[in-house]
Amino acid sequence: MPPQSLVSSVTLSVVTPMFNEREAVDHFVARLRPVLDGLGVSYEVVAVDDGSTDATVSRLLQLRADWPELRVVSLRRNVGHQTALRAGLRSARGDYVVSIDADLQDPPETIGEMLAKARSENVDVVYGVRSDRSTDTVFKRNTAGVYYWMMRRMVGPWVSDQAGDFRLMSRTVVDVLNELPEPRPVYRLVVPSLGFSSAEVAYVREERVAGQTKYPLSRMIRLTFDSVTGFSAAPLKIATWLGVLSFVLCLVLIVTGLIAWASGGVVPGWTSLYIAVLLLGGIQLICLGLLGEYVGRIYMATQSRPPFLVAFDTETSVPSPVEFAGSQRPAA
Ligand code: UDP
Ligand code: MG
Repeated sequence: MPPQSLVSSVTLSVVTPMFNEREAVDHFVARLRPVLDGLGVSYEVVAVDDGSTDATVSRLLQLRADWPELRVVSLRRNVGHQTALRAGLRSARGDYVVSIDADLQDPPETIGEMLAKARSENVDVVYGVRSDRSTDTVFKRNTAGVYYWMMRRMVGPWVSDQAGDFRLMSRTVVDVLNELPEPRPVYRLVVPSLGFSSAEVAYVREERVAGQTKYPLSRMIRLTFDSVTGFSAAPLKIATWLGVLSFVLCLVLIVTGLIAWASGGVVPGWTSLYIAVLLLGGIQLICLGLLGEYVGRIYMATQSRPPFLVAFDTETSVPSPVEFAGSQRPAA
């Protein structure tokens, strides 16, 4: 297969992962289309259906009838936001690729500013940086705050506190990302870590236009695990330090035990034994768990299973909207 850059025929690709976004998709298209039409460049919109079980796909196919630049890449099952994004980046053919959420929390109007900046300043990445998150829930803001604080310390100072997945990347960056062997890259960390020249565009985070968030706490925890283990062996060092600490504690306990024995002490302290066993058991389990987390990732990487499978891409095959009435897919 020739490299993507050789088959590129559009200036801009807009990649949007969508999971059960039936309620948001009309609003999204209505606002995105005039913006892209007004840019005066050739473009494609790659809507990646991440295994939606509602009528997202059939609606996208209907909308496509009236908007040929809208391309639908449908995945066989729900693989999560980052992996859906990965599928979109692989399919995108543009010289520049913008990734944007489907719920209009990232304003499409900013895309023009990003493209202009990438061209005028000749940079490879333009980050959308949230200047205001007041529309996010207090819970979301706080958890996001903790996440970025942790990432800056563990991964590096180049992680911007307010840059999510709304960004523009040049073809060079996208080609590099597509070559990464990592099974589950976290793009908001990987992209800045590559060190390409970059600029920022500030935007106000709006409220989700319709539907519910697709990022419940469990997914946020998973993203955090992927982020940490994808970038840092620091947790393994925590295991080592806990081990050292428990060893020192054991030495102290041994000494006190010996003193008690030498002084003809009565029944050896049950409490201290009890505590020592519990403490050591706990620390050992933590260390084992941390090791297991990394071993698990090595295991998954060696399996090299495809992280996603494309069911169809409207660029190569055109399914009829009727086929995708919405509920034919088993729940993820
Ligand atoms: N999304 C996805 N697959 C998932 C979860 C989410 O493709 O498994 C998409 C979703 O449709 C949206 C984007 O990822 O376009 C961001 O999700 P959401 O807006 O629900 O997250 P939040 O803004 O609440 O963090
Ligand atoms: Mg959102």
